[in-house]
Amino acid sequence: MRVEKSSSSISRVRCVVHNCYYNDHNNSCLANSIEIQPPDARDTEATDCATFVNSTGR
Ligand code: SF4
Repeated sequence: MRVEKSSSSISRVRCVVHNCYYNDHNNSCLANSIEIQPPDARDTEATDCATFVNSTGR
């Protein structure tokens, strides 16, 4: 689900995924909202941002 891109970053979220369409390249996210998946994650490695959109392959 594509969300709108905001002019201000989400506070209290640090994201270093610089190839994401929503990343401001300063470790912040400009998406209006984010969703983290999956519901049954058991560790850090299994937890991902479902809002991610590849900035080079959209
Ligand atoms: S949408 Fe997710 S992966 Fe992309 S910058 Fe925001 S928090 Fe990071």
